[in-house]
Amino acid sequence: MTTQNISGKVVVVTGASSGLGEATARHLAAKGARLVLAARRLDRLDALVAEITAAGGQAIAVQTDVTVKADAAAMIAAALKAFGRVDVLVNNAGYMAIAPMSATLTDEWDKMIDINIKGLLYGVAAALPVFEAQGSGQFINISSIAGRKVFSPGGTVYSGTKFAVSAISEGLRHEVGSKIRVTVISPGGVNTELKNGSSDEQSLKALDDFYQIAIGPDAIARAIAYALEQPADVDVSEIAIRPTAQDF
Ligand code: NDP
Repeated sequence: MTTQNISGKVVVVTGASSGLGEATARHLAAKGARLVLAARRLDRLDALVAEITAAGGQAIAVQTDVTVKADAAAMIAAALKAFGRVDVLVNNAGYMAIAPMSATLTDEWDKMIDINIKGLLYGVAAALPVFEAQGSGQFINISSIAGRKVFSPGGTVYSGTKFAVSAISEGLRHEVGSKIRVTVISPGGVNTELKNGSSDEQSLKALDDFYQIAIGPDAIARAIAYALEQPADVDVSEIAIRPTAQDF
């Protein structure tokens, strides 16, 4: 069965325990998608599964650390076991720690690289063989406006990871694109927990100002739904979406 619209599609969402991932899961479930919710905080995933199923939708929770290869593989295996196929992987899990380079917060650099780049790659490695065997599938990779422009000072390493997401997505689409779709979503400021990730107090204060004009995560969920609901021969390759009032 190849489903062209959203209803019935099996959609795996990483980082579904908050922010964009949570809003996307809720939005797609309401449109009839069958959801596989992945993140580390299982209590939050379980609560969302309960909410979706109470509303008549279908969802399962799979505790997943995307930086662990075996977890990414188990996430896709759980989707196959529950629903028999995987139509979409939303590579959304992410971490942002804004700070000047001179603060040399190398543990936070490591974390951004591990979650934002390696985590996404492990998801691709787990889902791609399934998509190839099915002859169809779609990756939704969450980059950022900071993946098109260097968000500096403070966002240099974060931007580096998001430039990597955009580059990997472009190459992936080029390599597997005849049947498999690859969509990059590049959001601007969205009101989520993401802005709290840094241990640098001064950067946190500056970010609070930047996020005053942030939009809600449902705006990104709608953009993802748009990319999913196109017919199989239409690849929405990239969507940039930011607050109207954002000048970056
Ligand atoms: P949140 O902090 O609200 O959500 C991040 C999600 O990622 C959480 O569900 C978290 O779940 C999950 N996550 C983090 N680390 C891991 C891990 N190791 N394994 C599995 N899941 C993990 O932020 P957003 O919703 O804003 O972020 C979602 C994506 O959107 C990110 O890729 C971010 O870079 C991107 N983005 C966000 C923007 C914004 O302004 N908010 C702008 C541009 C892009 P848990 O902790 O339970 O594991």
